Amino acid sequence: MSGPVPFLDLPAQQKRLGAALRERLDRVLAHCRFVMGPEVTELEERLARYGGARHAIGVSSGTDALLMVLMAEGIGPGMAVFLPAFTYTATAEVVLLLGAVPVFVDVDPQTFQISLPSLEQRLEDIRQAGQLRPQAIIGVDLFGQPAPWDELNRFAAREGLFLAADCAQSFGASYKGRKLGHEAGATTLSFFPSKPLGGYGDGGAVLTDDDEKAALYSSLRSHGEGHQRYEVQRIGLNARLDSFQAAVLLSKMDVFEDELKRREGVARAYDAGLPSLVRPPVRVPDSQSAWAVYCVSLPSRILRDSLRDRLTEAEIATAIYYPKPLHQQPAYQAQHDGIALPVAERIGEHVLALPIHADLSDEAVAYVLAVIGQWAEEQDEPQQ
Ligand SMILES: *Cc1c(COP(=O)(O)O)cnc(C)c1O
Repeated sequence: MSGPVPFLDLPAQQKRLGAALRERLDRVLAHCRFVMGPEVTELEERLARYGGARHAIGVSSGTDALLMVLMAEGIGPGMAVFLPAFTYTATAEVVLLLGAVPVFVDVDPQTFQISLPSLEQRLEDIRQAGQLRPQAIIGVDLFGQPAPWDELNRFAAREGLFLAADCAQSFGASYKGRKLGHEAGATTLSFFPSKPLGGYGDGGAVLTDDDEKAALYSSLRSHGEGHQRYEVQRIGLNARLDSFQAAVLLSKMDVFEDELKRREGVARAYDAGLPSLVRPPVRVPDSQSAWAVYCVSLPSRILRDSLRDRLTEAEIATAIYYPKPLHQQPAYQAQHDGIALPVAERIGEHVLALPIHADLSDEAVAYVLAVIGQWAEEQDEPQQ
């Protein structure tokens, strides 16, 4: 076996989905209800059932899902929203779009999930400064593993904060024996093609148990529409989901459990086959990851970059999530209060994501491990 080993193999996936996918797409072509057609309703029912929530509202992206959730809570100027510094920009971007301030929280050095001690400290900082009203927390299931939801819920309840769950990377994962989807007041999903439940374009959803909020999300996704068409109840968005996208996702739902099993198999093969120089991801206890990302850690930036170069030479795709935490990004300079978040600042220097997806063959995994093993052996050799 040799390269290339792609990071994601959508052609192989399409082949695996086969005729069922095309039949669903043909049905959309036949009925022509392209926006919010019957596929969207069917998908929403399946997502709600799968995530153990009363309602699922299909939307145009994971980012719009987050934006709507914050809009429904009345998030705006003068408010602080707490979120991990080590996440994708979308989590923080929506806070700023509404005129509120994202307050960056450090993460756990082992699991990279939001750190409760840091969260407590940051809340204290904001209260002390007295400029902003603490309003909400966005928990993020980084790389497909669950954030500490029980602790976050207790904390949010005690402090009177709204808790949202950004499950863009983790739908399909479970936490203490239950599938993610109802751990917080609202759960947001993304169907970007590289996410565990990826579509063939942009899409997302909001899951909630709250009947009133569900109605509010439905209104917000469609220009703040009231019960009647063209009755404008509130200011909303155009954040609707396409029928084609829902059709693809319904096909993906049919194979989702198999895909998750395959991802877990790949993760275990990596775990077992990596040399000691390359540390596998630390698992969140009592959970099952959706394996959006399989992220190894190296002892230093030099070694990480060296391994990455070797894998690139061997035509094995890799990625670095994330090279820089959000509070050090240019776009967030004006909002960050200057506090150091040492763990989030360090992680990006020594992590490397390996290919993990349902169409990765045993041979490809063995090839990746062989290249890494060879590289590690060379690191042990005394310098000439
Ligand atoms: C991908 C992602 C989002 C945004 O989802 P889109 O569908 O791309 O808008 C939000 N949060 C996290 C953690 C993500 O990984």
